[in-house]
Amino acid sequence: MNPIEDIVNQFKEVRLEADLKALPEDIRGALPYIRQAMDLVTRIFLKQQNEHLPEHYDAVMKGDDELRKRFYDLFKGPWNQLTDFKSEYPDMNNRSAGCAFYPESWANAKIRKTVENMSGPEKEAAMDNYTVLRDEDGALEAIPYHVYYAEELGEIFDLLEKAADMVEHEGLSSYLINKAEALVSGTYRESDAEWVRLTDSPIDLVIGPYEVYADALLGVKATYESMLMVVDREKGDALKEIESNLDKLAAVFPVPAGSKAAVGGMAPIVVVDQIYSGGEAAQGVMAAAFNLPNDAWVRGHVGWKQVMLHNVMKAKFTIGTKEIAKKVMHGGEHVDFGPMFTFVLLHEISHGLGPAYRADGRETAKCIGSSYVAIEETKADTGALYLILKLGGQYGIGKYDSAVMLKTYLAGLFRSMRFGVHEAHGKSNVIQFNWLKEHGVISKDGDRFAIKADDIEKVAEELLVKVCTIEAAASEEEAEEFLREYGTPGEDILLALEGLRDIPTDIKPVFPEF
Ligand SMILES: [Zn+2]
Repeated sequence: MNPIEDIVNQFKEVRLEADLKALPEDIRGALPYIRQAMDLVTRIFLKQQNEHLPEHYDAVMKGDDELRKRFYDLFKGPWNQLTDFKSEYPDMNNRSAGCAFYPESWANAKIRKTVENMSGPEKEAAMDNYTVLRDEDGALEAIPYHVYYAEELGEIFDLLEKAADMVEHEGLSSYLINKAEALVSGTYRESDAEWVRLTDSPIDLVIGPYEVYADALLGVKATYESMLMVVDREKGDALKEIESNLDKLAAVFPVPAGSKAAVGGMAPIVVVDQIYSGGEAAQGVMAAAFNLPNDAWVRGHVGWKQVMLHNVMKAKFTIGTKEIAKKVMHGGEHVDFGPMFTFVLLHEISHGLGPAYRADGRETAKCIGSSYVAIEETKADTGALYLILKLGGQYGIGKYDSAVMLKTYLAGLFRSMRFGVHEAHGKSNVIQFNWLKEHGVISKDGDRFAIKADDIEKVAEELLVKVCTIEAAASEEEAEEFLREYGTPGEDILLALEGLRDIPTDIKPVFPEF
C-alpha cells in the first residue's frame, strides 16, 4: 500500500453521536456561529505551526491529490503526528521544534541562549505562554498573541458575540462574550475562571490558547485550540460523589516537604459528547478527556474543570483498547469500558494533585522545561492507577475486578504508546511499562504479556512517589535523567507495537451535522 495511505488509514472514521435535538432552540441556532469561530482557530493554529502553512494548506486543498488532502485534513499539515511531526512529503521540511513561535531565521541554540541570558520583565515576556518572539534588529522581541493574530481574533470576536446574543442561558451567554473579549485583549484569567464555574450550561466550549505540547524548544508557548460539546447532565451527576471527596483523593498524593500542591479551588467534573473541534484539538489523535485551564493563578485561586469526552472515549475503546488487549495478552477479551472511563477520569483528577510549586515558590512546570509534560503525564497515569487500587469502592470511585481492571490498564498503555513513543504522552506509557516490568508486575507470557495484581499497589505507589519527588525538586537534569532511564522502549515493546499494525491507532471523527 502507498505509505501515506497506510498512515491515514490508521485513523478509522467513526461517527460521533450526540443528542443535539435535546438542546434548546436558541442554542442550536448559535452553534453554526461557534463552528465558524472554531474554523478560524484552526487557521491561527496552522500559522502557529509554520507561518507559510495557511497558504500552502489552501493550495493543497484546492489541488487534486486526494490522499494528500486527507493527510492534511487529518494532521493539519504535512507532518505526521505519530512520528514527532516528521514531514511525509519530500517537498516539505519537518515541523520545526519551536514551530513558528520563534524567529524562523534563528538557530535553536541561539534562541535558547538569548532567552537564557535575559532577566526581569524582558525574560518574563519571552517565556510568556502567550507571546511569539520575533527578530527586531537582531534582538528578540516578544509580541502578544492578541496583537500578532489580531485579524483572525477580531473575526472570532464577532462570531462569538453573535452567538452570545442568541443564547438565552445567562451563564453561557456571559461566558461567550467574556471569552470573545479575552481573546482580543489577551487577558484570559477572568473568562477561564468563568468557564470553570460554568457547569449548568447545555453546551460547553473551550476556545483559546492552552496547551504547550507543540513547543519542543522552550516548552512554554501555547497553541490555539477549540472544542464544542453537548453536556450530559445525567452522567455528570453520577460523578458528584468523587467531586465532593477530592480532598480524600489529594491526601494519597505525596507532596514532598517544601513543595506545594495547587489545591484549594473547585474542580467540577462534567461529562460531554464532543460535536466539533478546531485548532490543535482537530489535529490527529483526539483527547478522551482534558483538564483546563493550565494557568497556575486560575488553578490556585478558582480551580479547574475536568471534562470527560464520553462519545470519543467510547469510540476509542471499541476500535482500539478492545482489539489491542486481545493481541497483547492471553485472555485479553476480558477488558471493560467501565475501568477505562474511571481510569481516564482519575488521570484528569490526578493532574490537579501532587506538587505544583517548588519550595522557592516557582512553578514546577516552568522549572522542568521540555521534559515536564512526559513527567506530568506519568504522574497523572500512575496517580489514576494508584487511586483505583487504593480507594476503589470508596468516595464514588468504582470497584472493579482487579484482573479486568489491570488488563484494561495494560491495553491502555499500548494504546497510548501507539501515538508515538517519543512524544510526551507515549513516553509516559513507556515509563510505566518499564517500571512495572522492572518490578515484576508485568512479565512475558509466551508471545504475549501478563500483568499480575500481587505487588502492584506498592509498585505503583513507588512510581508515584518517584515522579512527585522529581516534580517537587523540579530540576531539569533530574527529570531528563529519569526519562533517559525509563523512557526508552525496549525490544519487547517495539515488537508488540509492530504486531498492532492492523488495528487503527485512533479515530477520525465524523461529527454530527448542525
Ligand atoms: Zn494527561
